[in-house]
Amino acid sequence: MAERSRAAAQPGRAAGYGGIVTGNVSRFAALPSGWSGPPRRGQLVFDASFESGNLGRVDHVSEFEYDLFIRPDTCNPRFCVWFNFTVENVKASQRVIFNIVNFSKMKSLYREGMTPVVKSSSRPKWQRLPLKTVYYYRCPRHRGNYVLSFAFCFDRVDDVYQFAYCYPYTHTRLRRCLEGLQRRGLPHVTCEQLGLSVQQRPFDLLTITSPENLHPGKERKVVLITARVHPGETPSSFVCQGIIDFLVGQHPVAKALRDRLVFKIAPMLNPDGVCLGNYRSSLMGFDLNRHWLDPSPWAHPTLHYIKQQIVHMTKDPHTSLQFYIDIHAHSTKINSFMYGNVFEDERRCQRQLLFPRLLCQNAPDFSYSGTSFNRDAAKAGTGRRSLAGLLDEMSLCYTLEVSFCGYAAEGSGETVPYTEDTYMRLGRNVAKTFFDYYRLPPPRAETPSFRQDRAPGPSHPGAPGRWCGCRSSATRQDPSAPS
Ligand SMILES: [Zn+2]
Repeated sequence: MAERSRAAAQPGRAAGYGGIVTGNVSRFAALPSGWSGPPRRGQLVFDASFESGNLGRVDHVSEFEYDLFIRPDTCNPRFCVWFNFTVENVKASQRVIFNIVNFSKMKSLYREGMTPVVKSSSRPKWQRLPLKTVYYYRCPRHRGNYVLSFAFCFDRVDDVYQFAYCYPYTHTRLRRCLEGLQRRGLPHVTCEQLGLSVQQRPFDLLTITSPENLHPGKERKVVLITARVHPGETPSSFVCQGIIDFLVGQHPVAKALRDRLVFKIAPMLNPDGVCLGNYRSSLMGFDLNRHWLDPSPWAHPTLHYIKQQIVHMTKDPHTSLQFYIDIHAHSTKINSFMYGNVFEDERRCQRQLLFPRLLCQNAPDFSYSGTSFNRDAAKAGTGRRSLAGLLDEMSLCYTLEVSFCGYAAEGSGETVPYTEDTYMRLGRNVAKTFFDYYRLPPPRAETPSFRQDRAPGPSHPGAPGRWCGCRSSATRQDPSAPS
């Protein structure tokens, strides 16, 4: 793999780039043409052979400029979007320009002010690059393709700098979170392994509810939440993490929700794609969100396992699966918003409006006006569409989308870039919205944090006032993973 990358990086051998990029670079020194011997300080060394890493090829343009090629999704060369790589062997105060030259999508939030993220030991938290250092444009040198160029000045010599399309969230990070939950021994949390992915990675399902709700014969109202069917859509994992953290905690609203509802959460539907650094596809190149109608146990095992659970719930007379929310990230729109379904039954259509309206009250980044309902043929195999056909008419199925970029600030309308924390805040607000939806009695001790996350507005769906403030093959661990 490294040899292929090294050969491809030689100027003169990089004429065509369709189909050449097949593996991730592995500690690859991008050297000038004709250079022999070990790289000197300042001749950059690139690496993406770690969990969720993606960088397929590096071309040395000059001492100050490098052309970078995203490795297409495994078995699906149509998708070149996610990148995540490290750079080292830098000089202090060295300035370089990186050009990502082979995006498969033209339309991108990089045109609307989104910037890549960076991390190093002097910036232990991921940061977005400053807007003034990032450009997204049609480049004549690359056949008129859209190119993302960003300038960067390295500050420390012995540092490793990691750059990514958006904040990474690996399968290892999820596993640590789940193991941490299990160690806490909380009576209201169970984590079970439903099965293994094609590459034998564990596929997990969390159940969060008060233990009494699991007694045989007890009537159960279930909320099912899934995330990361599209592996490059990392914001969906932060939103899901926010939901989990809130629901397992001691907040009185969380306790009220656990007493009333059973939350089933599958935080990572495509663990192989996540580990491989794919954007859209599974190991075998499938868009799993088009295979819900008839998932194959060998080609789409994670979907097969979760669908078995769903079918089991639909046959249990004591279980009512009331909500299904599948969390995604959107690459061309700002804000968070939902997609719902279109039904013949007008009342069913109307009932779908309530949850997004309530979420809009609770979440300053959620756009009710951006929420839409459709029955596109192209979306027939998605979780939202196929489960709406499988579940009874009282069930509500949504896709929750959150922007890779940011959300419009109330008042000014300026785009506020999303951070890991604000993605998780959206998750907390999604969880709290079930409290409003089910009209649960107000908690006796409302804590300050409950108010902080809420936008002003009525606290109950029956209350008067505005309905919404609607503004229009991985081998090593990700270097960014928390230790
Ligand atoms: Zn998606």
